[in-house]
Amino acid sequence: MAIREFALIRRYFAGLGGGSDHLVLGVGDDCALIDPPPGCRLAVTVDTLVEGIHFQPGCEPGALAGRALRLNLSDLAAMGADPLGFLLALTLPAADEAWLDAFSRGLAADAERFACPLVGGDTTRGPLAITITAMGAVPRGQALTRSGASAGDYLYVTGTLGDSRGALAALAADGSGGGELAERFWRPEPRLAAGRLLREFASAALDVSDGLAQDVGHIAVASGLACRVEVASLPLSAALVAAYGIDTARQWALTGGEDFELCFTVPPSRAGAMEQVLAAHGHRVTRIGAMVDGQGVVCVDEQGAALTLERAGYAHF
Ligand code: ADP
Ligand code: MG
Repeated sequence: MAIREFALIRRYFAGLGGGSDHLVLGVGDDCALIDPPPGCRLAVTVDTLVEGIHFQPGCEPGALAGRALRLNLSDLAAMGADPLGFLLALTLPAADEAWLDAFSRGLAADAERFACPLVGGDTTRGPLAITITAMGAVPRGQALTRSGASAGDYLYVTGTLGDSRGALAALAADGSGGGELAERFWRPEPRLAAGRLLREFASAALDVSDGLAQDVGHIAVASGLACRVEVASLPLSAALVAAYGIDTARQWALTGGEDFELCFTVPPSRAGAMEQVLAAHGHRVTRIGAMVDGQGVVCVDEQGAALTLERAGYAHF
C-alpha cells in the first residue's frame, strides 16, 4: 500500500474524532503527543477484532468500527478512566474506498460522541483485522482494579445482562439484524459516566465481556475471595425475557458475554450513597450478590440452592 497508504490515512483518519485539551499532536508524525491531566495515571487497553472470529464477512463497516471502539472504551470505564485518545491498527485485504468511507464515518461518530480522538495507528495489508488501543486518564489512587474487594462487599451490575447473547441467537435463527437486542450487540454503551462516579464508591470493578459467571470469578480470584450471585436478582431486559423466556434469559445473563456492563463491589456502608448518586445521574444499577470468604463463584436460586451452569462463558483457547 506504499503511496496510497498515506493518501488513505490523510483522507480517512487524520483529525478523526476532533481534538481535545490533552492532544498536542495527532495523526501524521512518528508518535502522537498527549498531555495527561495533572495528577492522573495513564490507563491503556487494547482489543482486536478478526474477521471470521469476532465478526462475519459482510458486516456493516461503520457498525463494526463503532463496536471496536466501544469495547475499548468499556475497559476504560471499568477502570474509572476518562478517554484521552485511541490508536487504530488496521489490516485490510484491499483499499476499498466505499468500505473505508463507511468505516471511518462510523468510527468518527463514536469518537466524537465519547470525546476520544484518533491519535495514530498503523495500516497494513492482510486478512481484515481491527485493533484499537485506547488511552485514558484516572486520578492517582482511584483506579478501579479487580483486586480490592473485601468479604461482605455487595456485588452490583449496571444495565441489563444477556441481551447480546439474545441478539446472536436471533441472528443465527433467522438472520434478523434489527431490533433492540441487535442494537445492544452492535452499539454496547461504554459505562464511562458510571465508572467515573464509581471511583468514589467501588472497591473492585470490571466490565462483563465473557459472561458474568466467568468475569465475577476474576474479581473473586484477584481479591482472594468467593463470589455469591443471586440468579433471581439478575437485571434482564423486557425484550430478552419476551423473546426467550425467563430461564433462558437468566442462563444468558450468566454466561452469554459481550454485555459490556460494569460489575463492581461496594462496601455495605457505602452502598446506599452509591445507589443514590448513580440513580441521580440516571444510571441503572442492580445488587446481584456479595463477596464471601472462600474461592470460586456460586450461583444460587431464590431458595439459596446452588445452580449448575451449562457453560461458564467465552474463552478463545
Ligand atoms: P511510521 O512508519 O513512522 O510508524 P506510518 O507511516 O505507519 O508511520 O504512519 C504515518 C502516520 O499515520 C503516523 O502518524 C501514524 O500514527 C498514522 N497512521 C497510520 N495508520 C493509521 C490508521 N489506521 N489510523 C490512524 N492513524 C494512522
Ligand atoms: Mg508504521
